[in-house]
Parts: sequence; structure tokens; C-alpha cells
Amino acid sequence: MRYDVAVIGGGPSGAVAARELAKAGVSTILVERNLDNVKPCGGAIPLGLIEEFNIPAELIEKKLSRMRARSPKGRIIEMRMPNGYVGMVRREKFDSYLRSEAEKAGAVIVEALVSSIKPSGSGFVINTLNNKVAPFEAHRIIGADGANSKTADELHFPPNELKVIAMQQRFKYTPAIQKFSDIVEIWFDGEVSPDFYGWIFPKADHLAIGTGTEDNRHNIKALQKRFIEKIGITDKPYLDEAAKIPMKPRKSFTAEKSILIGDAAGLVTPANGEGIFFAMRSGKLGALAMIEHLKKNAPLKSYEDEFRKLYAPIFFGLEVLQAVYYRNDRLRESFVAICADNDVQQITFDSYLYKKMVPAPWSTQMKIFSKNIYHMIKGC
Ligand SMILES: Cc1cc2nc3c(=O)[nH]c(=O)nc-3n(C[C@H](O)[C@H](O)[C@H](O)COP(=O)(O)OP(=O)(O)OC[C@H]3O[C@@H](n4cnc5c(N)ncnc54)[C@H](O)[C@@H]3O)c2cc1C
Repeated sequence: MRYDVAVIGGGPSGAVAARELAKAGVSTILVERNLDNVKPCGGAIPLGLIEEFNIPAELIEKKLSRMRARSPKGRIIEMRMPNGYVGMVRREKFDSYLRSEAEKAGAVIVEALVSSIKPSGSGFVINTLNNKVAPFEAHRIIGADGANSKTADELHFPPNELKVIAMQQRFKYTPAIQKFSDIVEIWFDGEVSPDFYGWIFPKADHLAIGTGTEDNRHNIKALQKRFIEKIGITDKPYLDEAAKIPMKPRKSFTAEKSILIGDAAGLVTPANGEGIFFAMRSGKLGALAMIEHLKKNAPLKSYEDEFRKLYAPIFFGLEVLQAVYYRNDRLRESFVAICADNDVQQITFDSYLYKKMVPAPWSTQMKIFSKNIYHMIKGC
């Protein structure tokens, strides 16, 4: 069997790409190793994504417009989003919905683990573990197989450099934790995470609580245990999950006949570890470039150029924020103090909800700059 495009991996990036390709009449196969996969994930998505991809209301378990930031000393800043909300989804349902949309558009969806991708003629031949699916050919490849992408290895893309290991536990609501059920809580606290942050995300029937740290630098299980103790939870979780988050785009994620999208390309923003939006946007942009490539022989590189043009400033801004404020508890304390400023909250939420960097007026920028200096010197 021969397809125009094989999409490897059926998370949000792969499902969106397969749907766009199939919609344009490109013969597409999507290979997912486990169609019942429960991707470890907080499942927080911005309003802009929900609107752009017409995510059905029943998939949004919670719409949260309040967020609490907690400092190392226990200072709490409550922030409000007057113009939007963070949507909470459950990945097992979300991913399966996105794949069903791809299938409806005409993509072939199969369950198998891709074990090798070899050049063959003008395209590739793809093998799956134990020949679960008979070897097949594809003219072009889209690697959407996550942080440890087999596609990237097989096709010799530059490495995914910076990885955070994140752990999350799910707790069914009990009267003791019901108080967290309608607010997003973020802990900036070196005891919970010395170089990232801890989160409490409420879902319909459970809380998802997790933390992250740079790969191999700290013991993630010990950090998570301390976090749960600090919150004061004594119940047992009903699910433990952990996975890597690649928080730096690869040096290049396009080649002559293949591209990487989503986590496979390293498209998760530093500081907040947000990846679903970028997975779906890269899936869409990558598929559109692939369609132009197949129809008009346009170079695939246009996808990477477009992605970087749109989002490089956001990645850069968050990288600086993480490098400056996540270094120690003194700086984290200052960071939380700065979050009390209404202008800081507005800029943060405007750029989060729609991923647009809207420059604030000079007077506001100067005020925020002065507050930054003040809090950094004072250490709170
Ligand atoms: C604990 C944790 C919490 C997170 N919380 C959030 C959050 O709240 N909000 C947010 O925006 N982001 C969050 N992220 C990041 C987010 O989960 C990812 O950025 C997002 O899932 C990327 O989507 P993707 O489609 O690129 O990759 P993935 O979702 O990882 O999908 C890759 C798919 O490829 C399949 N696959 C892998 N190898 C093969 C193979 N060889 N053959 C066939 N199939 C294969 C996998 O089974 C998987 O389904 C979190 C990540 C973690 C680890």
C-alpha cells in the first residue's frame, strides 16, 4: 500500500495534521501505537485554541477564569481573566475526538508502533512492531510521535535538547480537596520544583496535581510527594503518570521530505510547559505546507519559517522569564509579587489566551520595569 503522507503519532499534533491533509484530498495514514493512550497531561488549553479548532463544549470539563499564584513564603496572589478562560480537558477524550475528526475527513487510522522508517525510491517504507500493520510506503512523513520521537531518530533530525520530566497524580474529589475545584493553582516554590512549578488543575470529578523539573536534576517522585504533603492531601491518588516535556524547539524540524510537529519538534513553551496549543498549530501549519509541497513542489521549510515567525517571540520571552525568575526562591518570591500588578495580569492573560504579544504602552512598560527592579532588590 502507498500513501501520500504517513503521520506517525496520534496525539493532538498528529490528529490535526491528518485531518487537514485528508480534508485537502491527500491520501493519509495516521499510525498511533495505542489508541487508548492516556497521555500524562494537565489538559489546560487556552480559549483561542478552543475557538480556532471548534472544540465541542462537552469536552471542556471546566472553564476557569481565576488563577492563584503561590510564592515560596506562602504569599498568594489571585488573578482574574475578565476576557476569557482556561479550558480543562481530559486527554483520553480529547485525543480520541481529534482522531475521529481526522478519520471523518478521510484519513486511515491504524494502531501500531512504528519501529523503523527507511528511505525507498522517492519516499519511505514504514515498518511496525511485529508487523502489526504490513510494511507500507509513504511519499512524505510527518513525525508527531512526541518527546522521544522515533521518527526524528530514524530521519536524523538534530536532538531535542532541553527536557523537563513532569509527574502528575489524579485525586478524586473528597470534601477536603473540594476547595480547589474552581480555580487554577500554580505553586512557585523551590521545595515543590527547584526549576519549574507545581500545579493543581481541577477537572470534573478529580484534581490533577503535578510538578516538573529539568531531566535528571532532581528526584521527581520526591518533589511530588513533598508537594502533596504541603497541600495537605492524605488520600491516595487513583492514577500516577509521568512523561517528558521538550521545552526547546529542535535546531531544525523540517527536512526535504519530512517534518516534525508538536513535542516531536520540541514545541513546548519554556516557563509554563504549554504544548497542546503549539502541537495543534504546528500540526495545522505543517499540514498546510505539506499540501503546498505535494501540489506545487513548494519547499517544506516554509512551515518552520512560518512557525518561528509567529511564535519565536513568545518562546524567547518565556525563556528569559524562566532564566531570570526560576533560579531561586528569592527571585520566585519577587515574581509572585509582580503578578499582583493588574497590567502584568492583563498582559499575561492576553498573550496566553490568543498567543498574541500585544505591546503595552510605554508608560505601562516603564511601570512594570520599575516594579521588577524594586521586587528583585527587595526579594519579595
Ligand atoms: C505531566 C504533563 C502535564 C502537561 N500539562 C499540559 C497542559 O496542561 N497544557 C498544555 O498545553 N500542555 C501540557 N503538557 C504538554 C502536552 O502534553 C504536550 O505538549 C502535547 O501532548 C503534545 O502533543 P503531541 O501530539 O505533539 O504529542 P503527544 O501528545 O505526546 O502524542 C504523541 C503520540 O505519538 C504516539 N507515539 C509515540 N511513539 C510512537 C511510535 N513509534 N509509533 C506510533 N505512535 C507513537 C504516542 O502514543 C502519542 O499518542 C503536559 C505534559 C506533561 C508531561
